Amino acid sequence: MSTLAQPRMVALVRDAKGWSQEELATAAGLSQGFISKVENGLTDLAGDQLAALARALECPVSLLTDPARLQGLEVSCLHHRRRHSKMTAAKKRQIEAITNLTRISVEGLAAGIEIVPEVQLHRIDIDSVGDAAEIARMVRAAWRVPSGPIENLTRLLEALGVVIVARALGTSAQDALSTWPTDPAKPPLMVVNTGLPADRYRFTLAHELGHMIMHVLPSDTQEAEADAFASELLAPAAEIGPQLAGLTTRDIPRLLALKQQWRISVAALIRRAKDVGAISDRQYRQFWMQLGQLGWRTREPGELSPETPQTLQRILQTHRTEHGYTEKELAAAAAMLPRTFARRYGGQRPSQPPTRLHVVPSR
Ligand SMILES: [Zn+2]
Repeated sequence: MSTLAQPRMVALVRDAKGWSQEELATAAGLSQGFISKVENGLTDLAGDQLAALARALECPVSLLTDPARLQGLEVSCLHHRRRHSKMTAAKKRQIEAITNLTRISVEGLAAGIEIVPEVQLHRIDIDSVGDAAEIARMVRAAWRVPSGPIENLTRLLEALGVVIVARALGTSAQDALSTWPTDPAKPPLMVVNTGLPADRYRFTLAHELGHMIMHVLPSDTQEAEADAFASELLAPAAEIGPQLAGLTTRDIPRLLALKQQWRISVAALIRRAKDVGAISDRQYRQFWMQLGQLGWRTREPGELSPETPQTLQRILQTHRTEHGYTEKELAAAAAMLPRTFARRYGGQRPSQPPTRLHVVPSR
């Protein structure tokens, strides 16, 4: 293994901290000019200076020097579910860097483990199908999802081999990011912001899944397509349409009951009512005003029971019980300092019955 820092990795770990070169230089007791040269590959970084930089970045030296850790990031397309576009370039770089470092950790931990999905996830070209809702119907059929609401979307996606990691992104402007490298040996990954209400969390997962399946290259229409996919996946028009027929603004109790049944927000149900033609554009605007008056645009009543990802916890469990890994060894596999690893994954144990996904040691 190289003993020199990889320029791109230094920038990646710095970005994940949300630091400028200047801030890293101060924390490491080095000059900004030196950090700039390191990140541009104009000077080598090794020895004491490398150790000082790793200390400041709170990461193992090996993360900064191992070129293999960077390989998985080369080809993955990164998608975002953003609440609004008010985000600085530095913040955007930070959450992308957090996602990339999460992938590095997940791939490190998944080495020696075989994730065997129940059903294989495939990409479907939206240009050949033409309609995101049609693709949602195709995947529901292909995965044999029973008609009606999807009770636990997290378990469904985990059964497809998608790794879902909850991480504090340090902003409310971004709900999730997803990556799926073209290498089939590498798992699709979703990093979802913590603190989302269950309805928004579920819609976010469905939206990200839409990106993973339909979008390889970014396009102007991708956000609307991912939303259309998510809406149809969670609440197929043919099934929810009749339940929304004749809806008026006096039907808030009906919407709250449908929210519990379908596990999607009242706001999403109102959008759905417009999509399926159950309400007019004018009624839709009235509903929207009503939601504002009720203060429901920020927080809706009728909170749903949360869904918790399990795959990563089961990978850790397999390492602990079947491979006899210590927490220190697990931290090394995740390319983290032991204290960072303990804070993020240390106390976590599977809390729900296993998903249909098989996580087995590969021998
Ligand atoms: Zn999106």
